[in-house]
Amino acid sequence: QVVTRFAPSPTGYLHIGGARTALFNWLYARGRGGKFLLRIEDTDRERSTPEATDAILQGMQWLGLDHDGEVVSQFNGAARHAEVAQQLLSEGKAYKCFATQEEIAAFRDQARAEGKSTLYHSPWRDADPATHPDAPYVIRIKAPREGNTVIRDQVQGDVTIRNDQLDDMILLRSDGTPVYMLAVVVDDHDMGVTHVIRGDDHLNNAARQMMIYTAMGWDLPVYAHIPLIHGADGKKLSKRHGALGAQEYQAMGYPAAGMRNYLARLGWSHGDDEFFTDAQAKEWFDLNGIGKSPARFDTKKLENICGQHMAVADDAALLQETLEYMAAAGLPALNDAQTVLLREALYCLKDRAKTFPDLLEKAHFAVTSRPIDVEAKAAKNLDSVSRGILTELTPQLQNASWTREGLEAVMNSFAEAKEIKFGKMAGPLRAALAGRAATPSVFDMMLVLGRDETLARLTDAAD
Ligand code: GLU
Repeated sequence: QVVTRFAPSPTGYLHIGGARTALFNWLYARGRGGKFLLRIEDTDRERSTPEATDAILQGMQWLGLDHDGEVVSQFNGAARHAEVAQQLLSEGKAYKCFATQEEIAAFRDQARAEGKSTLYHSPWRDADPATHPDAPYVIRIKAPREGNTVIRDQVQGDVTIRNDQLDDMILLRSDGTPVYMLAVVVDDHDMGVTHVIRGDDHLNNAARQMMIYTAMGWDLPVYAHIPLIHGADGKKLSKRHGALGAQEYQAMGYPAAGMRNYLARLGWSHGDDEFFTDAQAKEWFDLNGIGKSPARFDTKKLENICGQHMAVADDAALLQETLEYMAAAGLPALNDAQTVLLREALYCLKDRAKTFPDLLEKAHFAVTSRPIDVEAKAAKNLDSVSRGILTELTPQLQNASWTREGLEAVMNSFAEAKEIKFGKMAGPLRAALAGRAATPSVFDMMLVLGRDETLARLTDAAD
């Protein structure tokens, strides 16, 4: 069974790159009936905060990246991590090193002065335990000195590291706390992780982590190190490119489905497919579709994809998401009648909206109530000529059959009789019905509002 994990360090918000890493792991597991686990790497006590953990969990929840099982805290596993270091020690695969910071620093200074490698080789590696002093020590792994370590990476290909480049890294500090590198390996092993999909900034760590797997006789996970995300200019994504936090995109009102689709395409491709559903993404997602070069974040593409997801969204789900967005944005809650009208209006709102603010702007006619507050841009469509048109048109609509065809018939014959273009009526109707210049089509608004409300608004606006 496939087991993947997302292992963020809780030191800030959920970065867009982290969200994509989580998404790739989620897709890979979900598409294979596997498990997707979440581990909070909170061993750095100074930098880890509960607020950051909450932000990560909330960001994942918004993106719909549900994880299996409990959230694992890496810090809680410290005793287990130490136990593994002790086991390696007792098996002779690790050793106690009594070298002091000063000795190591002095070694490095000398090596630098002599132009030699500063890789520290501890004299304690092969020391007889009988000679061990009664002094503080760290536990170091016995790194292989000969040959190569090959990371068989599913994205980067085979990456070869010469073993003489690897140092006898510390597993347990002198205060008995495990180092991060050990914690990751032990946790991944104990959690049964089969596939490690993460940013390629961790590629070098893989070689060192593999030493621990090998020493413990554990099966290696499949590695896939994915290139980082860049900005439109090809430089590493940073604040000056715009929003970096997943939740900032939520606050801007991007739909989660569109965000998932766009993030999936960021560094992964399936032929020429740009737009796809979650079900398709789960079915199609594979490690060999991940590109070797960094993907560029493109807000225009994101908007385009989000617009397409809005357009095909199921109305009940879309209503729910719209209400959630409104609550998160601190907008006033809708009453029942407004909610019903919004729900009925969705079919004509979702076509051109890329974000929830777009959708709500168009939805204004459905959630506002009389007297309609007319914004300046729309007010010019209610001059005396326009009001005159409304005054004459309104009684004719009284008896129209309240269908698109019925309304069209009345309006067309009115336009013909008055020898005016349809456009001449549309502006005043928009202003009267919505108080705005940008609205859905007048027919859609009339159909959603119904006869009584439409006529009442027109009468209010007419002379
Ligand atoms: N905690 C690491 C990070 O946030 C990820 C470690 C891993 O995926 O192995 O960058």
